[in-house]
Amino acid sequence: MSSPRYDVIVVGGGHNGLVAAGLLAKRGRKVLVLERRDTVGGAAVTETPFGPDFKVTALSYVVSLMPPTVMRELELERHGYKIYPQHPYFAPRADGRYLMMCDDKARRAAEVARFSTRDAEELERWDAWLGRLGAVLGPLLTRVPPRIGSKRPGDLWATLSLAWKMRGLDERGVGDVTRLMTMSVADLLEERFESDAVRGVLGVSGVIGTWAGPRSPGTAYVMAHHKLGDIGDGPMGTWGFPEGGMGGVAAAMRAAAHSFGAEIRTGAEVARIDVLDGRVRGVTLVGGDSYEADVVVATTHPKITFLQHVERSALPDDFVTAIERWKTRSGTVKVNLALDRLPDFTCKPGFDPEVHGGTIVLADSLDDLEGAFQDAVAGRPATRPFADICIPSVLDPTLAPPGKHVMSMFTQWVPHGFADAPHTDELDAYADRLIARMEALAPGFTSSILHRQVIGPHEMETRFHLVGGNIFHGELSASQLFHMRPAPGYADFTTPVRGLYQASSATHGGGGVTGIPALQVVKRIIKDG
Ligand SMILES: Cc1cc2nc3c(=O)[nH]c(=O)nc-3n(C[C@H](O)[C@H](O)[C@H](O)COP(=O)(O)OP(=O)(O)OC[C@H]3O[C@@H](n4cnc5c(N)ncnc54)[C@H](O)[C@@H]3O)c2cc1C
Repeated sequence: MSSPRYDVIVVGGGHNGLVAAGLLAKRGRKVLVLERRDTVGGAAVTETPFGPDFKVTALSYVVSLMPPTVMRELELERHGYKIYPQHPYFAPRADGRYLMMCDDKARRAAEVARFSTRDAEELERWDAWLGRLGAVLGPLLTRVPPRIGSKRPGDLWATLSLAWKMRGLDERGVGDVTRLMTMSVADLLEERFESDAVRGVLGVSGVIGTWAGPRSPGTAYVMAHHKLGDIGDGPMGTWGFPEGGMGGVAAAMRAAAHSFGAEIRTGAEVARIDVLDGRVRGVTLVGGDSYEADVVVATTHPKITFLQHVERSALPDDFVTAIERWKTRSGTVKVNLALDRLPDFTCKPGFDPEVHGGTIVLADSLDDLEGAFQDAVAGRPATRPFADICIPSVLDPTLAPPGKHVMSMFTQWVPHGFADAPHTDELDAYADRLIARMEALAPGFTSSILHRQVIGPHEMETRFHLVGGNIFHGELSASQLFHMRPAPGYADFTTPVRGLYQASSATHGGGGVTGIPALQVVKRIIKDG
């Protein structure tokens, strides 16, 4: 009996898989999505580990970099996509003070001036500087990287056209981009700001999800990557919490893909991508079922796709080596809590929508951040974990019963090697220290906790298939960006196998719930016919 046949098979039902499936189905392709877990969304998922009353955004928690085209094309709002804009950063400090980075420029200046009037003025110039860089880098995020170095006429043309696109950059602009790509976020911030508070809060974006402390070269770019979402009127939307948690985004994408006719199978673990004579033929599941298609889109981690699913002999050695060397560490831990009440901060008592509906940052200084990283480098979980915290239930009533709340604590670092084993006791002790840090700032916090969930690198790898526990399918280091993501010569969403395309977060534009890899791969597939 012949296997069922599709125009396109998408391996992985994370958000990129769902977006690719929806866009292709909308264009008339017969599409099948195969997802290993019993739910779609991948790292964009809402769970109920504490029972039905509390909806927890298990891993990712805030959207920003999704191009409006994805939302428009998939009619996501019609399918339930709703975003609550995120309020500003609030950083309560061990010294009893707090720094609030308000959206309103005048208020922000007044808040920052409590720490340094010079920093308050500098912040304006910093915004302008980032705005100029964003005007250059933002559009690159949605551009297909050329095959730099290839002498084929089409590739040379693509490289030249990129150079032409960059002609707006003068010497100073090139210098700024070079600095951004090579410097540590700490060096960059220390040149401009004098207060520990400002440096600490601004430094956090440089290390989110990264196996690198703020003093590591390259972290300046990571900061900019996270900022592209709120630079000027850039191509992306604003930061915000999706209704229903990140699973709300995946649910809207699934509904959209379904409405256009895509078939989505969960509990369907792909064992092999079938290749014959250099061309993809389809896929085979672990149970032995197989499906045929001339086009397969892999949205799984590249180490899964190319080191497990595709026969090694079907791939060039240098490509396999590049994937084997792909860096995918991070040392991130996610702590999710159900709370009986909101935290009451000593430095700013009472309910404040800007505090409780914003992002609460535990990072007193660059040294504070670097210390946490150096602990992990030395092989032990951070003594003083830093955290990026939000309480989305303050804005979204669907997440918790009235008066109760869910808190998402994104925190770093534990040793990246924790991906190899559960390390349950050490993770629990780490979470205790993080909670104690909150308790010192908001007395009574510990007793407000009804339930807690701690997800470390091993669980990220084994349950969510994020190899090495890296949150982006691969580090956002300079050596793994743009034409290098995930391997030189294959940053254009193709692979060495004809008909096999890639669109995971390890491709350009990925690293976050962006949908950009999916958008790009669809354009490429349509172009290739
Ligand atoms: C703790 C954490 C916090 C984060 N916070 C944010 C945030 O706030 N904002 C943001 O924008 N981004 C955030 N991210 C990053 C973001 O979530 C990811 O980059 C993005 O969700 C990845 O999407 P994807 O579709 O490329 O891959 P995935 O979501 O990983 O999807 C790949 C899918 O493939 C499936 N799969 C694996 N193997 C197989 C197989 N053999 N057969 C079939 N299917 C398979 C997996 O189960 C998975 O569903 C965070 C990530 C983590 C881990």
